[in-house]
Amino acid sequence: MKAASELKNDLILFTRDIIAIPSLSNNEEAVIQRIKQEMERIGYENIFIDGMGNLIGQLGHGERILAIEGHVDTVDVGNLEKWNFDPYKGIIKNGIIYGRGACDMKGSIASLVYTGAILKKIGIPRGLKFLAIASVMEEIYEGLNWQYIIKENKISPDAVIIAEPSNLKIAYGQRGRVDLKIQTSGVSCHSASPEQGENAIYKIAPIILDIEEMNTTFPIDSTFGKPCISVTDIYSTAVNQNAIPDSVTIHIDRRLTPQESKTEEDVLKEIRYLKTVKTANATVYIPEYEYKSRSGSNHQIKAFYPSWYMDTSHPLIQTAIKAYQLQFNEEPELYIWPFSTNGVGCKGLFNIPTFGFGPGNEKYAHTEEDQVPIEHLIKALEFYASFAILWGNIP
Ligand SMILES: [Zn+2]
Repeated sequence: MKAASELKNDLILFTRDIIAIPSLSNNEEAVIQRIKQEMERIGYENIFIDGMGNLIGQLGHGERILAIEGHVDTVDVGNLEKWNFDPYKGIIKNGIIYGRGACDMKGSIASLVYTGAILKKIGIPRGLKFLAIASVMEEIYEGLNWQYIIKENKISPDAVIIAEPSNLKIAYGQRGRVDLKIQTSGVSCHSASPEQGENAIYKIAPIILDIEEMNTTFPIDSTFGKPCISVTDIYSTAVNQNAIPDSVTIHIDRRLTPQESKTEEDVLKEIRYLKTVKTANATVYIPEYEYKSRSGSNHQIKAFYPSWYMDTSHPLIQTAIKAYQLQFNEEPELYIWPFSTNGVGCKGLFNIPTFGFGPGNEKYAHTEEDQVPIEHLIKALEFYASFAILWGNIP
């Protein structure tokens, strides 16, 4: 696509610019302002930053709404000594841009924002309203942005492309995720006379072993891989290290496949029925997290992120396949994302037809080799534009 190659230099500059602006979750304002500026330059309309901090730009006034969405927050850089380059420079070497968020997912943000530039050049289909969305807080609460966009902004797209890295494959689903807490209670006392108290750590020990055992019992799903469960954290309320703790909590990460089709209640029951949990009279719950919106109001989110998938015969996936074939003259690869994305919101919770497509190989996400090939940025841009035109022109 000629229009895309002509934008190559702008695309590279913009990607490097937004890599150079650190944007940890909950601290995205600066990078959001920079992206807003680019949207204004390209000529998006109705650009606004919502109460949560998500940036939305619009092109076209048709009936059918297509949103391409990506999150701007990144994980931290960790130990700087492990990096071979400055993570906030957007260094280019052999056609690859390096830096924190290059892969996950500032490269994608650049491609999706520039989709508007192509649509302006070659003409926006009359029936289409295109939304470019740069969202916040994904790395801590995936899908939360869609809860906000749909419930508070009252925007409900007819189709969503999640622009997370997919190595230019069409992603049609992912496992879901739920956070769980298990808490045991005891009686605190001085650890010089432990028999006078009741140690909450000893009470939770058999439960931990049970969870480990449970992980071996899930049936393998040929498409989505294995459901799984892991204890990922443990903390006590011991007043100091010479005290018997009166309560202990473990944090559990549970990954769900669509075939399990479990509700919050099912997931809780599965744990509450364990003999060790009953014996210890432990409390099992799904935590609720609180976050502050830009205006300072408090919101709550339940840590339940449902799995989702699209039937590959669905018109949306078929249109994606066709757009890929027309653009690149070859068959696309279809696959299932191994990690979690904002798709848990738009498709998992609200059932909006969704698929994923993005530049970069996810194996570099969150690593010190965070990177995205320039060629991928252009190809993603070409795919988004070609999809928007095809989908926007469907009668
Ligand atoms: Zn991501």
